[in-house]
Parts: sequence; C-alpha cells; structure tokens
Amino acid sequence: MKKVVLCMTLLIGIQSFGQNGQNTLRCGQELHYEDHLMNHPEVVQERQELENFTKNFVLNYNPNNKVASITIPVVFHVNDPNNPQKVTMAQVQSAIDILNEDFTATNWDIGNIRTEFSSIIANMDINFCLATKDPNGNATTGITYHYNNYNGREPDGYGTSVKSVEYWPGDEYLNIWIVNYVEDDNDLYRSGWAFLPDSWVASNNLDGIVYNHRYLGYTGSSDVSGTSSWQQEMARVLTHEVGHYLNLYHTFENYCSSPGDYVNDTPPVYYHGSTNCDQIGDKCSGVTVVNDQNYMDYTYCPSMFTTGQKARVVAALNSSVAGRNNLWTTGNLQATGCTTSTASLDEYDDIASTKLFPNPAHTEINLQFNLSKTTDLDIYIQNLAGQLVQSHSMTATGTEIKTISIDELKAGVYFVNVRSQEASYTLKLVKHK
Ligand SMILES: [Zn+2]
Repeated sequence: MKKVVLCMTLLIGIQSFGQNGQNTLRCGQELHYEDHLMNHPEVVQERQELENFTKNFVLNYNPNNKVASITIPVVFHVNDPNNPQKVTMAQVQSAIDILNEDFTATNWDIGNIRTEFSSIIANMDINFCLATKDPNGNATTGITYHYNNYNGREPDGYGTSVKSVEYWPGDEYLNIWIVNYVEDDNDLYRSGWAFLPDSWVASNNLDGIVYNHRYLGYTGSSDVSGTSSWQQEMARVLTHEVGHYLNLYHTFENYCSSPGDYVNDTPPVYYHGSTNCDQIGDKCSGVTVVNDQNYMDYTYCPSMFTTGQKARVVAALNSSVAGRNNLWTTGNLQATGCTTSTASLDEYDDIASTKLFPNPAHTEINLQFNLSKTTDLDIYIQNLAGQLVQSHSMTATGTEIKTISIDELKAGVYFVNVRSQEASYTLKLVKHK
C-alpha cells in the first residue's frame, strides 16, 4: 500500500511539470486517487480481491476460445453553461467510431506496430453502442444536454456536482460526462479521467469517464492550439480512459518494480522514458524495447492493446465489481436498445432455456437443451474464484441432454456458463460431498 501511494505521488509530481500538454497524453486517473484509497480502505481490499480474481481468470483464459463478442452501451452527458449542443451527434458518433476501431484492432495505424509487438496485438473484440433506450425504456439519442458550468472534479475530487446532474445506472451504461474542464484548474489541455472498477464509486453514482469536449472525436470542436496530427492523437485519449474503466493501469504503473501494470506481456517502463515514440531514455533492466505504442502509455503514437491486457479486461467484464459483468448481458443490451440483431435474441432465448439437473450434484450433471436449431456450444465451469475448472465444446440439436462428469471437482459452488456464437447464459451449480 505504501509503495502504491508513493508511486502515485511521484506521478502527480511529474504530470504537473508537463509543458502545454502537447505531445503528452493528459489523463488524470491518478489525481485524487491516493486520497480516495486512503479514505476508503474497503476499496483497497476490493482492488486486491479483484486482482486475485483476475489472476485466476487470466491463468485459465485462452484468447482463442470462441466467445461472443462484447458490446457495451454508452451514454454521453454533455455540459456547458450556454451551448451544450455545440457537441453534435456527428462528433459523438466519431468518438464511438474511434472506440470501435481501437477495440477491434481495425484502427488506421495498426499497421505501424513495431515488429517486436506485432504478435501480441489484441483484438479486444469489444463494441461500443450509443444507447437508444434510456433507463425508463424511452427512446434516446444516447446524448443528454445540460446547462451548467461544472468542471469534472468539483466539489470533492469525484466530480459529484456534474455527475449528480445526470447519471444512468453504471451497471447498465458506460456514463461519459463531457465538460469544458475535466479538472478544477481551468487547464484546457487536460483530456479526461476515469475510475477503475470500484463498488464504492459505483454505489455513489460516480462511475464512468469525465472527458474534455475539445478532444472528443475527430470532428472535435477545437479552441486549443496544436497540429492536426496532435488533435488526432488526443481524440484517442478516450480509448485510454476506457482502458482504465476496464481495469487497465498505465504501462508505467510501478515503473520498473513488480507487479508493474499487472500485465505480463507489457514490458516495465519508466514514465519519463515513455513520453516519446523513439525508445529514447533509461530502460528498466532486461528491457530492450518498450511498448510505447500501447494505448495505456503516455505517448503520441498509441495504437494497440496487448493480449495480456485483453485477458485482464475480459476478467473485469466477468467480475461483479461495479457491475461490469452486467453491461454486456443480452438482457441489458436489449434494455438499452443495443441489440439490433434478432438472431442473437433468439439464440439467447434458446440458451436461457437450458436446464441443469441434478443440482446439487455429486458425480455428474445433465444439461438439457431446448434449441430451435443445431447450435455449437462451449460449456465453461468456473469456481467461485473465477478459475476455469472444466471446458467442453459440443453441438446440440432440439431437446437434447448432455452429461458431464464433475467427479473430479471439489465440493463447493460453481458457475456453468453456456455459450454460443451470439449468446451466453450462466447457471449456478452446487457440488456436494
Ligand atoms: Zn491514464
């Protein structure tokens, strides 16, 4: 704990020496975070539990496993004292397009990745959907407009003022508050900040991302001086903030010290060595090339996530911390108007009709499917710690029963996840002695 606090303090110090913000990515994730952890020891405890869950999940995670791609519903709350409508639908759509490119490795600069890292480029397989239904089920554009002059931090460092103006349930939507100043220092070069998954933050309706309208989308309004290439780079800071929201740290977290950013395939890196894209500066021992093109670094060439980061993000999306595991359920996508495919809804209905018996069970379980068509299925059995203890692939048709041995499992509670190409459904299983 002490070490963590020290590093964050150092970071804040370094950040405040930034020039006019150009050529550095101005993320404020660490600002106020030290105070937050000190005031809420239960968050420190939860971070550790999520770390343990992630470690187990990652150990058993195979990025090549066929899983349904993940969609996250998004809402933008735009704030300005005079003209919030200056942020147009076209601008918001551009921001969504950038996220969808960056999180599916279809970004324009993906071909520029250094050869040392080309084999670990991750297609995160995550899509972002502008919500078309609000929390009451009414039609929405996915943008709400508000007249106020709140910055993204006041009055308490959490941005409670602006977040109280409009907040949609954080386990159903990714809330993004667009403001004129994301910090309380009137610095228009600061781009945004986000919370890592955090139940305290979620239960106080503070979960999400605060973001500067100047850097939203490629069509962003701009009253800042900078080259067009710098503006393009800044437009992708939102990708970095969503990385935090999905539990990624900066690649330079803890500098050269273990556990770094808690991701195995991102080389440790000094902060001051990563502001450039030329591998200039001191390197941590044993490291010859740093992943300066990573979205979670602070360079002007961000263009990839790694497969290690993908596993960590998928773990966060399978954890109940801050309700991240609810965001992409078929039920939530339906409620937020983010499922347009009736095929996936049909498939979800099919899979959600799966019966598991006996339960509790001792030596074997039966899964009884009730499918409207022949379907390829993956069955994942996880324990309470998130460890994958069994996986099976099968094809089933109509009303069919498949038997799975659970003889080798220890007594306890398990989750049986039934997945098809487009849908996922989880059943609870108790194995008795
Ligand atoms: Zn950051």
